[in-house]
Amino acid sequence: MDKNFQEEQFTGMIKFTPPLYKQRYQFVKDLVGKYKPKKVADLGCADCTLLWMLKFCNCIEVLAGLDTCASVMKEKMHTLSPLPGDYLQPAERSLTVTLHHGSVAHKDPCMLGFDLVTCIELIEHLEESELEKFPEVVFGFMAPTMVVISTPNSEFNPLLPGVTVFRHPDHKFEWDRAQFQSWALDTAKRYDYTVEFTGVGSPPTGMEDVGFCTQIGVFVKKYPQTSKPAQSEKPTEAAYETVFKAVYPSLKDEKYLQNAVVSEVMFTAQVIKQSLLDHLVSEQEKYNDNPTERKFQLQRSVNCFSEDLETQAVEKSTEPFVNGNVVYIPLKKIFSSPKVTRLCGTFEKLCKLITGKVTLSTDGSAVILNTEHENEEN
Ligand code: SAH
Repeated sequence: MDKNFQEEQFTGMIKFTPPLYKQRYQFVKDLVGKYKPKKVADLGCADCTLLWMLKFCNCIEVLAGLDTCASVMKEKMHTLSPLPGDYLQPAERSLTVTLHHGSVAHKDPCMLGFDLVTCIELIEHLEESELEKFPEVVFGFMAPTMVVISTPNSEFNPLLPGVTVFRHPDHKFEWDRAQFQSWALDTAKRYDYTVEFTGVGSPPTGMEDVGFCTQIGVFVKKYPQTSKPAQSEKPTEAAYETVFKAVYPSLKDEKYLQNAVVSEVMFTAQVIKQSLLDHLVSEQEKYNDNPTERKFQLQRSVNCFSEDLETQAVEKSTEPFVNGNVVYIPLKKIFSSPKVTRLCGTFEKLCKLITGKVTLSTDGSAVILNTEHENEEN
């Protein structure tokens, strides 16, 4: 990761809190929070720290990273894999994370269709020939809705003691604001984007003239709906090598949805059963104290408990009831639990997902549980 070590090292005079690299990542996170892109690619992703932060943004369904240095990408790429908790409680959104080994000087169809492309402290690492190709690859070919480019503002360098030439030995250039803005405006104009300038790392009081330590250009495509005429010319041949791919468990996948629905149905049924049994016990205690009410309640119980009327009772009942040592919990009642409704969407879907997975009454309209042996019900 390029933490612009000079910025970090010489804290005697300039100290950024939080550190500047975190402020850059936070800037991207805030932008994601505001515009809610579904597909985000980070070019020059290095050790994937930004990608790791972005995987927690719930709007994102596709995350991709690209870097010419495979070893730095591999350092922490395991942090992009799903954790056991992701399998225990799959998210509603789907998420696929992919890392590619390759250069922003080359076009690859895997980079098409993104909403946001970030290039954080990347362009100053590019050789002249790569920088020349960069606008055509990113804005012309990838053509995402939004591009964020950050780069050092060289006007700030005098405030960073020890910086003689560049902030990092691998930097090929560092631009002042006029240079960056002229390049960005020219690029935006050529590819039908607008661009706005901002930054992170405020200068100290009295030195505001130098501008932000990191300058940022936010590019937005002018006509997002129009399909590019060059679309047909887009290469279909891959130039990058995929070095990592993780598909997160999601409720959009029927097998995870079914597991989630079955456990939620069983949980809801258990809760209903318990409250019904508690209610019956307390009623029973009341009858013992009041013989008249007891007569009335017993009459009601007979209707439910009658063997002959079982099928009819199950079909008609919208409320749970006990018959012998079996508790009937109508599916309609279970479906009315907000969590089950949200998971299934429709009653028909609920029935479909639990068929064969949950013990149901003969007509399939109620979950049946044993009054006593809770752990043997399934
Ligand atoms: N974005 C990260 C890393 C910045 S350092 C951060 O903000 O911390 C620049 C990164 O760009 C390095 O990891 C370097 O390997 C990568 N890089 C350099 N030239 C590249 C190119 N042509 N294509 C893609 N990545 C490149």
